[in-house]
Amino acid sequence: MITPLISIKAPIYDIFFSFQGEALYTGLPQIFIRFAGCNLKCNYCDTLYSTIISKKAKYLTCNKIVNKVISTYIKNKENFTEILTNTFTKNQASKKPSISITGGEPLLHADYLEVLLPKLKEKGFSIYLETNGTMFNNLTKIIKFCDIISIDFKFKSECKNNFWKEHKKFLKIALSNSKSETFIKNVITKNTNISEIKKSAKLIKGISDKIPLILQPSINKNSPAIQNLYKFYSIAKKIIPNVHIMIQMHKIYKVK
Ligand code: SF4
Repeated sequence: MITPLISIKAPIYDIFFSFQGEALYTGLPQIFIRFAGCNLKCNYCDTLYSTIISKKAKYLTCNKIVNKVISTYIKNKENFTEILTNTFTKNQASKKPSISITGGEPLLHADYLEVLLPKLKEKGFSIYLETNGTMFNNLTKIIKFCDIISIDFKFKSECKNNFWKEHKKFLKIALSNSKSETFIKNVITKNTNISEIKKSAKLIKGISDKIPLILQPSINKNSPAIQNLYKFYSIAKKIIPNVHIMIQMHKIYKVK
């Protein structure tokens, strides 16, 4: 018997209101949906619990999630009306209440997202996807629903392998939706090396040098030396124009 799509479930750890803590949209009020499970294991992962699907994950239908998102939105509505007048972003979709689809790696659940995301959009929300940029086939299933795509490039120095081919394919698919906005993050640790930054910037340049690259220093015992961070910045900047160093706000305030 074919299971009706409406009843499919995915493992979710949390649905909560907070402010985006990193990259170009730092400070944007959002409702976060944290999916369980990840296809990678990065040393610097700050949500390690979410990389496995444990008993704490709740299997929820899309309708359950939509209802929870709406009730979380209603509770925090005044924060979202603020963004309508104070937004500093270019993306028109970001003026709608934003939902961060995060994990773990949410694209592990692409079939589920294919059902969930149009439902959220119908209700007037915009979609902000946070991804490790490796599951390009799964991105094709949901790219049309994404308004903002935040892609991490993962490096061998902290994530066991490089994923240059996957990242390249992923980025091309992300850019195929001309209505969405895409940017790349490189998490920088004391183990990050120059060739990783160069390859990352060159990969971006080969596709479109307008794509912003955010160098995000890890805030833990693996933090990079500031002079290395500046060196990486100037190396990347010689290759592409749109490079930024940005830290994670939520780590400083120790919030979700
Ligand atoms: S890809 Fe993201 S969620 Fe997965 S292990 Fe790496 S940092 Fe953690």
